[in-house]
Amino acid sequence: RDWAAAEALLRAVPPTGRVLLICHINPDGDALGSMLGFGLGLRQLGVQHVRATFPGPPEVPEPFRGLPGLDLLVPAHATDPAPDLVICFDAASESRLGELAGRLSTAGAALVLDHHASNPGFGTVNLVDPSAAATSVVAERLLTRLGVVVDAAIAECLYVALTTDTGSFRFEATTPAVHQLAARLLATGISPGDISRRVFDTRPFGAVRLFGEVLGRARLEPAAAGGRGLVWTFATLDDLARHDQRPYVLEALIDSVRCTAEADVACVVKQGTATEWAVSMRSKGAVDVSRVAVALGGGGHRFAAGFTGRGTVEQVVDSIRAQLDAAVIPGR
Ligand code: 5GP
Ligand code: MN
Ligand code: MN
Repeated sequence: RDWAAAEALLRAVPPTGRVLLICHINPDGDALGSMLGFGLGLRQLGVQHVRATFPGPPEVPEPFRGLPGLDLLVPAHATDPAPDLVICFDAASESRLGELAGRLSTAGAALVLDHHASNPGFGTVNLVDPSAAATSVVAERLLTRLGVVVDAAIAECLYVALTTDTGSFRFEATTPAVHQLAARLLATGISPGDISRRVFDTRPFGAVRLFGEVLGRARLEPAAAGGRGLVWTFATLDDLARHDQRPYVLEALIDSVRCTAEADVACVVKQGTATEWAVSMRSKGAVDVSRVAVALGGGGHRFAAGFTGRGTVEQVVDSIRAQLDAAVIPGR
């Protein structure tokens, strides 16, 4: 990881330079939070033309509509095709950038900030730290090197990113350094209670009823994954329509499914189109779900990974079952 090269790329941008920030499709708190926090930092440094965007549907999920820096966002189709610098956040691969993937080569230079172990290392310079709990950890380090003072607005963005990717400091990646970063962010005066309620604990009544229905059809397969167990469920476009809900409300479902004591692996299969399904997988540690995801064309981390499945729900779940035994971590 060449911090000096990343710093040099950023210092080479003149105040009139155009910087485009991008993150992965269906952005989560880490993608949006690290991108917007970094954008606010660049603005503080005097870079006048900073824009941020993401591929796919341009809608910001409701939990993130209170983030500072949302004014940096523009629709993907309205972005500069050849900015001086493009900076990419939280994308494990170029395919996660959808229609924006081309910007990496049409921009003057491309800087990639990420923390996925499966990241192949794309862009002109990349800072990929698989030991980092979130991309925001990498972003904060770079901002600090550049001399940015992390104010409350930047801190709120980075805090949202850090809490979403660590499951509010519950996951394995929650190191002392993560809590030290959280302490620095909180010292700016941001309100963890307000932020957490907005980001994690608020959803429309229709989503509560939708969750009830989708959780009610969950299946437990104790023999799967060499006896470690699989629990899974699915949600269709029709489910969303009946409850008048947007697809992003389903992102929180996996957190209920993965509570299942009898299964090491949890999956939620979410319909995107007639034949395409976004699959979320979580493991408690006996199975490396990133192996399953990579084998099926996706990526992620050991404990949290995903991919796009094709065909019927049964075909998608069959493809997962077929990979599970090989993904059991030896000795676990
Ligand atoms: P989630 O289940 O929260 O959508 O994603 C969990 C993890 O898997 C994230 O780190 C995310 O980057 C990764 N992931 C999810 N879906 C995909 C996918 O379709 N392709 C790739 N490469 N990674 C994915
Ligand atoms: Mn992400
Ligand atoms: Mn992340």
